Amino acid sequence: MITKSQLNTYEYCPYRFFREYILKIKYSPNASMSSGTKLHDYFEWFFKHWAEVEPDKWDLLIPDEFTPKEKEMCSVFHKGEKARLEGLKSLGLESEFTPPYTEFHVKVDPLDLHGYLDRVDYWKKESNEFVIVEYKTGFGHNIQKLKHELAFYKYIFEEAKLGTVPYYLVINPNRRVREYVKASSRGVSAVKKRIEILRKAIADNNFPKQCSPEKKKYCRHCDDGDCYNHMV
Ligand code: SF4
Repeated sequence: MITKSQLNTYEYCPYRFFREYILKIKYSPNASMSSGTKLHDYFEWFFKHWAEVEPDKWDLLIPDEFTPKEKEMCSVFHKGEKARLEGLKSLGLESEFTPPYTEFHVKVDPLDLHGYLDRVDYWKKESNEFVIVEYKTGFGHNIQKLKHELAFYKYIFEEAKLGTVPYYLVINPNRRVREYVKASSRGVSAVKKRIEILRKAIADNNFPKQCSPEKKKYCRHCDDGDCYNHMV
């Protein structure tokens, strides 16, 4: 089944896709990836416990073992959620604060696609409209690229007949970003084309190396140092 990560990896470098998803070569996560997982887990846990303390004291929920930077990111996350809660309260919609879905697995068997959504909020509950929420914890931030990627989730969510998705919400407490982005059907059309390209590459077993000095610095999939000899 094709996932958003597979599409992104293939576009980054087809050869990396081949190693990661065909040969199934795995690398142990680096420190920033481990920290990202901890924060994702905490954000999911938060929505099961937020009502146990007053919003002003949400920072008390942060695990002691988190690093100072992780604690700071949780605190930024709490501030954004507190503002969302106050906005909903002012509309009499407090009951919609807890997301209907967190760490949500969506699978569309007929299309052979699936994905794990960080979180889904209500947009307009009465008309079955939702916001797909994506957590980011790294320092990079490219909203156009994220929009391009999140169209994959809009596609599978709507194909699974769970509702419609007029907006995405990107939350990156590391960058203090909390941004609603309009979701478009044009983005979904682009995703369909990207999926077809990947399926063709798999059928043709065609995975050329697409390296660059910058990629080589961060991608650890060609440790044998043969990348530059095969750059295309
Ligand atoms: S090191 Fe370069 S060629 Fe090798 S998988 Fe990564 S991006 Fe591709």
